[in-house]
Amino acid sequence: MTTATQPTGQRPRVVIVGSGFGGLFAAQRLKKAPVDVTLIGKTTHHLFQPLLYQVATGILSEGEIAPATREILSRQDNARVVLGEVTDIDLAARTVTSVVLGRTTVHEYDELIVAAGAGQSYFGNDQFAEYAPGMKSIDDALELRGRIFGAFELAELATDPAEIDRLLTFVVVGAGPTGVEMAGQIAELARRTLRRDFRNIDPTSARVILLDAAPKVLPPFADSLGQNAHKRLNEIGVEVQLGAMVTNVDADGIVVKDGDGHERRIHSATKIWAAGVQASALGKLLGEQSGAAVDRAGRVSVQPDLTLPGHPEVHVVGDMISLNRLPGVAQVAIQGGRFAADAVKARAAGRPTAPEFHYHDKGSMATVARFAAVADLGKLKFTGFIAWVMWLVVHIFYVVGFKSRFTTALGWAVSFLGRGRGQRTATQQQVYGRLALEELGSSFEVSKTGGRKDALVAVDATGRESA
Ligand SMILES: Cc1cc2nc3c(=O)[nH]c(=O)nc-3n(C[C@H](O)[C@H](O)[C@H](O)COP(=O)(O)OP(=O)(O)OC[C@H]3O[C@@H](n4cnc5c(N)ncnc54)[C@H](O)[C@@H]3O)c2cc1C
Repeated sequence: MTTATQPTGQRPRVVIVGSGFGGLFAAQRLKKAPVDVTLIGKTTHHLFQPLLYQVATGILSEGEIAPATREILSRQDNARVVLGEVTDIDLAARTVTSVVLGRTTVHEYDELIVAAGAGQSYFGNDQFAEYAPGMKSIDDALELRGRIFGAFELAELATDPAEIDRLLTFVVVGAGPTGVEMAGQIAELARRTLRRDFRNIDPTSARVILLDAAPKVLPPFADSLGQNAHKRLNEIGVEVQLGAMVTNVDADGIVVKDGDGHERRIHSATKIWAAGVQASALGKLLGEQSGAAVDRAGRVSVQPDLTLPGHPEVHVVGDMISLNRLPGVAQVAIQGGRFAADAVKARAAGRPTAPEFHYHDKGSMATVARFAAVADLGKLKFTGFIAWVMWLVVHIFYVVGFKSRFTTALGWAVSFLGRGRGQRTATQQQVYGRLALEELGSSFEVSKTGGRKDALVAVDATGRESA
């Protein structure tokens, strides 16, 4: 175990957990502040989650939506990036413990910003994950890419019509923005991109089913926009099944219970889970130590100024918090991260901190298909091509880094103006890697970034330590 020492002088040490929207924007806001920032992330990248579905469906590469955090902050001299999974936070001792590849590091802090986000929730049915991956990480998106394109490949080889139907049936669970975007893109992939690529099967006959237990599409959006998205999905060949609750998922398919209590099975090789989130387990840890309430989704009840009760030096932002029913969206995390950073700067300068975080709602958007989106900007609502252009501009603006912006725009031109998709490569490792890791057992769970517990550093057959 190593202890990270204070880098310079007596400047306040700010530790940030998470390189997502909350963490990264907080770090950037501290650029000119007289503080030393340590940003700890369990991945080496900042992930632009809203475009994960485009990696899964072959439009963009993973690098385009996940630039290296270290590169983004390379010109910020007061910031240091550390790879590691935070496994413990001690509020009394003011330390954060991170682990990577069996190496444990303890970081001391004067100010702590926790922005560890949320993972997928299967509502107590975690066994569904093996057959219906979620959409939270690059691993998820690449595994899904392999499963989606792989299903068409296997269908081309199959001879039994029922098996071909099963392979060409794609089920997306959850009709929120992620599910709508995913279902729309699989339908376009089948009907446009792959139209001429196979000889034995007709990819355009693929069934894409979007189902949800809720009675409407895009529940957070205005009813008129949900109805517009529903209609457009139908037009591009997506079957929308509402009031349908998933009761089981297995290799063969998915079982759903309809509103009348009747259960039915949908035979489908490829299932995608886009329903439900569970905040990082660090939320529970912070709740236990500070007395802050933690809800069923693992979100911490923070003070109006985003700090923990009795701990003005600990700020929690983004998907991990429960405050005034704020939604789990990027803007809440970005604005929260900046607010927390401003509090840190104020205290460093001996100024009072702002007593309350006010979220400025800039609206919500979701794409349905090529040239079709919905945008809910409070009183202003847009659909169709105008909404899609707005979506395009906003997403280009927020994709971090010039290189990513440029290549992202290029990838979109290929896919939206033509019918191609530049990122169709999928490997066996991407599809089976997660299963293999799970086979390695719980000791590997400690760090998905690649390491076992301290005493269990993996040594492969050639005697090298695995990296
Ligand atoms: C598929 C998908 C589509 C979405 N689409 C939209 C959209 O269109 N518009 C919108 O506004 N929002 C969208 N969202 C929601 C938005 O991405 C989140 O609200 C936002 O990312 C939350 O930011 P955050 O900083 O709280 O968490 P995240 O951005 O998730 O960042 C959390 C960070 O913490 C790291 N981390 C987690 N645990 C640990 C640990 N123990 N130790 C170290 N690091 C850790 C993670 O690796 C990650 O870097 C979408 C989300 C998903 C999954």
